[in-house]
Amino acid sequence: MTPIHFKHRLPTADFTCSHQQIADHSNDGLIVLSATLEPLLINQIARQYLGEAELPNDIFKRLLIYTQKRKHIQFNLKEWVQSNTPIIQNAPIQTELLWMKTEQQKSLIPVIFQLSNINSSSRQTINTLLLIQDQSSKIEAEAKVCLMKTSDAGQFITDSLGLITEPNPAFIQHTHLSALKLKKMTYIDWLKAQVVFKVPFDLVMESLLKIGNWSGEIQLTVPQKKAMPAILTLSMLTDENRNIEHFVGVIQDLSEIHDAHHKIEQLAYYDSLTGLANRTLLHNHLEQLLIKYQQKPCYSALILLDLDNFKIINDTLGYPVGDELLILVAQKLQCLAHSNDVVIRMEGDEFALLYQDISQDTSEALTQALGLAYKIQDALDDRYTLENRSLHCSASVGVYLFSKPPQEGYSDELIRYANMAMHEAKKLGGNQVYLFEDRLCNLAKQRLEMLQALNHSELDDEFQLYFQAQINAQGQIVSAETLLRWFHPTLGLVPPNEFIPVAEEGRQIIKIGLWVMHKAFIQAKVWHKKHKKLRVAINISPIQFHEQSFIELVIGLIKFTQVNPNYITLELTEGVLIRNTTLALQKIQHLVSLGFHISIDDFGTGYSSLSYLQKLPIHELKIDRSFIQHIPDNQDDVAIVNTILKLAENKQLTIVAEGVETERQANFLRQQSDSLLIQGYFFSKPVPAEQFEQQFLNPPEAYPENKQTNTLSSQAPISLTTH
Ligand code: C2E
Ligand code: CA
Ligand code: CA
Repeated sequence: MTPIHFKHRLPTADFTCSHQQIADHSNDGLIVLSATLEPLLINQIARQYLGEAELPNDIFKRLLIYTQKRKHIQFNLKEWVQSNTPIIQNAPIQTELLWMKTEQQKSLIPVIFQLSNINSSSRQTINTLLLIQDQSSKIEAEAKVCLMKTSDAGQFITDSLGLITEPNPAFIQHTHLSALKLKKMTYIDWLKAQVVFKVPFDLVMESLLKIGNWSGEIQLTVPQKKAMPAILTLSMLTDENRNIEHFVGVIQDLSEIHDAHHKIEQLAYYDSLTGLANRTLLHNHLEQLLIKYQQKPCYSALILLDLDNFKIINDTLGYPVGDELLILVAQKLQCLAHSNDVVIRMEGDEFALLYQDISQDTSEALTQALGLAYKIQDALDDRYTLENRSLHCSASVGVYLFSKPPQEGYSDELIRYANMAMHEAKKLGGNQVYLFEDRLCNLAKQRLEMLQALNHSELDDEFQLYFQAQINAQGQIVSAETLLRWFHPTLGLVPPNEFIPVAEEGRQIIKIGLWVMHKAFIQAKVWHKKHKKLRVAINISPIQFHEQSFIELVIGLIKFTQVNPNYITLELTEGVLIRNTTLALQKIQHLVSLGFHISIDDFGTGYSSLSYLQKLPIHELKIDRSFIQHIPDNQDDVAIVNTILKLAENKQLTIVAEGVETERQANFLRQQSDSLLIQGYFFSKPVPAEQFEQQFLNPPEAYPENKQTNTLSSQAPISLTTH
């Protein structure tokens, strides 16, 4: 605005009009007041403030002004103008910041009022100019500068050539470059020096120059500092003619968000104890692999392993020791894995290794997978030092080799197959590798069928007790072990080794075991009348034994059948002592106090510590068939049998040798000890009660005591009835 020049060129008649025109061009509100405070001129902006097109009579009433933004204490403008006019020495008077209500703005706007004298041309009257300056944008600009200064986000502005002119403190901090250095750089210099983009740089520049902005994730790399993940936003500011005025950059640190993501991921996908991947992550990896193999088949292997006897270590030495062992195992597995493999802790003491992309060739892949599995088995079969103790541990390893999936959702099945193979390794005695074969699928199917059949079985119709004789050195019958037989209408004769584990898993063994005890008690009572000293042995499953009501049920059965427990032997496996050892011991003591004899079945195969024997009120040990099978040729087995016999002698325990099939075995055992009982096919297979009675309890002529020879070697097998 050039009012002076303009004023001089205008004719006098137009002067008022010109004043108005000039005033209307101002961005501030202008009101000229006469000495009596009558408005002589009001420009357009001031009119907007007054909210009326016509000249109002009393402008002071129409302007709503407050001293503070929130308190709403009205400011008396008229009084202020009156008290400050005429203005001495033409000096402008400013008030403090005031707050004005306008029709356009909902909230109060900040304004500054300024008074100055306007003398008429005759200099006789002194008019007053009231200037109203809206401060909103100035305050907003100040706020922006303040925001830029205090913001955590790094920000910079450049000039039209791209030179960084205003880096904020956060930007200086993030880049570790001084303001001085930055001001000598263009933003492109900076991008090239410190920013790693995830997209090509050309695309960034194209978007910035064509669309006017670009935003995306980057890595800020400052020498000797950890790379910082960040979001960078670049904008180009232009005038109406698309001339570049500034570039603006904002960089937001994503480290905390990344850390949080990492933590969440860690919790969701990794095991907290070992730091290994968890089951969920294995599923993800498998799904990805299987999708890949649909396009481009290749072989991978899932190697699943479970520690042997971990439960014993955990239960006897406590969880902290168990945890320590798991960490050591995890470390060993990680050392054996290739960089591309994933090591997983599935749960408890179960681990897995996903051996990825082995080969496209089946036999090559198989060789490699088995090679690694054996290496794992070998490495884990070791002594571990835990809390100053040296403990042995090993693992059962299952291997499943796979390629292109036959259907969707195959990853679950794949884990199941590897698991089956691992269980097979376990069944074979542990500490070995087993490669999955289709046969296992059929076995699993049969198991399921069996489980369903067990649920619907009629005990009295389908089950029968068989008995197997235990003979002493004099060839006399001493005892009969009860062995269960299941004749299923469609499945046929199912061997106990097959159905008992299934019935244990499905807990039907509790009902079945009770039925066995009931029938065996009745049988024992009947036989007791004929043969005063005959004992009846009954197998008790750990599941049955650990049932809360086990002792009460046994007491109930004694009362019901009137059996004398002194002639009943309960066969427990070492496994019953693994869980709740103290409670198990109490239960055993209770059974003994009722009169039962306790026998430890399959002795030597399970919990190999003999220390528990000291604590137990047991009567008998049964040497497992696996030690008998190869005597007298296998010297190790001979040594084991002799150790057990010595131990029994010290503790005055009865020893039963199970699974004696040949005369040679029987003679050899007899030479070792004359108090040993022999059970096995050499004398008799398990037979039904009537047959047992006929063979062992009825015909006195078959075993007349006076005809009895002292050594077994000269004696023919009593019966070889097959079942
Ligand atoms: P176990 O208690 O160790 O029983 C001995 C097993 O060895 C029996 O197998 C018996 O038939 C077999 N056997 C005996 N002498 C010889 C021999 O000279 N050579 C060979 N090769 N085997 C011999 P069975 O009857 O098949 O029973 C297998 C397992 O099933 C038993 O092993 C026992 O653990 C379990 N079982 C059988 N009946 C019952 C029962 O009523 N309750 C429970 N809980 N388990 C039972
Ligand atoms: Ca037994
Ligand atoms: Ca046994």
